[in-house]
Amino acid sequence: MKFNILTIFPELITTFSKTGFIKRTISENIIDMNIVDIREYSDNIHKRVDDKTYGGGPGMVLQYPPIKSAIYNLKDRGHVIYLSPQGQTLTQEKLSSLSSFNQITFLCGRYEGIDQRVLDELVDEEISLGDYVISGGETGCMAIIEGITRLIPGAIDDLESVKQDSFQNGILDHPHYTRPDDIDGKKVPEVLSSGDHGRIAKWRKKQALGVTWIKRPELLKNVKLSKEDDKLLKEYIAEFKENEHK
Ligand code: SAM
Repeated sequence: MKFNILTIFPELITTFSKTGFIKRTISENIIDMNIVDIREYSDNIHKRVDDKTYGGGPGMVLQYPPIKSAIYNLKDRGHVIYLSPQGQTLTQEKLSSLSSFNQITFLCGRYEGIDQRVLDELVDEEISLGDYVISGGETGCMAIIEGITRLIPGAIDDLESVKQDSFQNGILDHPHYTRPDDIDGKKVPEVLSSGDHGRIAKWRKKQALGVTWIKRPELLKNVKLSKEDDKLLKEYIAEFKENEHK
């Protein structure tokens, strides 16, 4: 999977590409990142790529010509995404569908955004991190790259851990614990040290259903629970309510 990232702050993405999981997947040729500084395509002597907004008003707008040149200079642009608060909100399902592309180009906005003609002519899709506004598209671009890369076979040592992640099956992940097993009397649930894989799997499923019910109950409306899972969730709810009244 190749990612092209067009930005006026390449150093943000360069640091990302040299850190942890992403650094490893690049060195193992699982992904490739081509970071493009839009300023390099400016005709302006001071490398400016923004100008005042037509019609007046506050803020600057990223210009069409340098972005067009940067995109046209790519060998292959693949699917072009503009990070924008006006796009469809990013979901795990969207990451999954994006992971089928061989090449994705990200366009990171800044200031008031990008000249509308870029969006009309050169962008395939707008994606948002959520209904709020931040200062640039780089954060969203990094979120999407990490999310997609996790789904590429070979990127994560244990693919099972990806399968149990939140949203993979429509519900949230179960709680996790690590050593020490006793912190001031707060103990790790006994079942997790039992070595009984059947019991552990059942406990984890029950907790995953339970935390989904507590934290994101609306997700449960979209999953078809098996009889067994339905029973586990009912048990969780009953125990939760019992503890509430203690
Ligand atoms: N004036 C724009 C608007 O209200 O739609 C917001 C511009 S914002 C200050 C600058 C850039 O940050 C945008 O061009 C976009 O690339 C990025 N950005 C801001 N909020 C975002 C979000 N929720 N998701 C993805 N990108 C975002």
